[in-house]
Amino acid sequence: MEVRVGIGYDIHRFEEGKRLIIGGVEIPFEKGFKAHSDGDILFHALTDALLGAIGYGDIGELFPDTDPSFKDMDSSVFLRKAKDIIDEKGYKISNIDSVIIIEKPKLLPYRERIRENTARVLEVEKSKVFVKAKTNEKLDSTGEGLGASCYVVVSIYKE
Ligand code: MG
Repeated sequence: MEVRVGIGYDIHRFEEGKRLIIGGVEIPFEKGFKAHSDGDILFHALTDALLGAIGYGDIGELFPDTDPSFKDMDSSVFLRKAKDIIDEKGYKISNIDSVIIIEKPKLLPYRERIRENTARVLEVEKSKVFVKAKTNEKLDSTGEGLGASCYVVVSIYKE
């Protein structure tokens, strides 16, 4: 069995008047992510982790933010494309772990929905997807609430 791992990272600023979307779930908050797409930091980091695990490229190469067709795009499209590439190469997802760094709002009430929706998009069991949220202890720009970031590690395998 061949096992590979991938890492992904993403960060976006907050902007007034945008919907806050994390893991494809809309979270009530007065701001959302400033981005060309919907700015979903979890789906962007996860897309990069999957692509990185097979050495395929990154989200910016596949979906350039200069392409108007990706404007306000639902980021599940990017994630699904990465999953299709993994499938084509014959890999399966072993597990996904993630850390979202966000000062406000609290994500714990939405964690299970975020896990369920991420698992749905990837067609894996929810038990394979984990999401943790942390504050930055008010340190640095994320801690000041100017934006939020996300780290993802994924493990894939081929039998
Ligand atoms: Mg991004």
